Amino acid sequence: MSLDSNAALVLFSGGQDSATCLAWALARFGRVETLGFDYGQRHRVELDLRVPLRVGFAASFPVWAERLGEDHVIDLSVLGQISDTSLTKDVAIAMQANALPNTFVPGRNLLFFTFAAAIAYRRGIKHVVAGVCETDYSGYPDCRDDTVKALQAALNLGMESRFVLHTPLMWIDKAQTWALAQDLGGKVLVELIRTSSHSCYHGARETLHDWGYGCGSCPACELRANGWEKFRAA
Ligand code: ZN
Repeated sequence: MSLDSNAALVLFSGGQDSATCLAWALARFGRVETLGFDYGQRHRVELDLRVPLRVGFAASFPVWAERLGEDHVIDLSVLGQISDTSLTKDVAIAMQANALPNTFVPGRNLLFFTFAAAIAYRRGIKHVVAGVCETDYSGYPDCRDDTVKALQAALNLGMESRFVLHTPLMWIDKAQTWALAQDLGGKVLVELIRTSSHSCYHGARETLHDWGYGCGSCPACELRANGWEKFRAA
C-alpha cells in the first residue's frame, strides 16, 4: 500500500485540542482530512460544532482552505453499548476507585486510532494526527505516549503499512496549547478556537466566558479555564 506522505488524517472531535491539531496539520501537509466519531455522546454539541469549525478554518485561512479535504464521521454507537460511563450515560462525573474519572471509556483511543488507520489506509494517507496528551490528561492510560507508540507499531504490523501517528500536544499543557494555536494562526485562530470549539462535559453553550463556552465547573471547563488564564498571563 503506498501512502501519500504529504497527506494527514486528523482525529477531529470539535474540542480545543483537536482544533489545534487540525491547524498543526494544515500548516504542514498538502492534504488534510478530518475524522469524527459518533459514539452516543450524552451531549452532541462537540460533534455538531465540527462542521462550523471546519468552515471557520477555511474562511479565515485561504491557504488552509485549499488543503482541507474530506470529512469522515464513523458511527461508533457500539461504544455506548459496551461501556457504562458518564460520557454516554446520565450519571454524574466522579472519580472511581481506580483513580480514573468515570468519563473514561476503556480502550476508546485504541479504537479511535485503529479506525483512523483503517480510513487512512483506504484514503492512502500516511500521517494520523491526534490531540492526546500526557501533561494535563485525566489519567487516561490510552492517551500516554507509550500507548500511542505501541499502537503505531501494532497498526503498521497489522496493516502492513508505514503510518506515522503524530501527537503534537503530548508534552504541552492547555496554556501551551493556546500558545501553539497563536503561533499557527495568530489571534484569528485563537479567537476561532475560543468561540467555536467545545470542551464542556455537560454540553453547556449558554455563556461565553473568557475561555469559551461551557458550564464553568466540570473538570473539562476547569482545565480549559485554567489553561486560558495561564496563557493570557504569560
Ligand atoms: Zn463544563
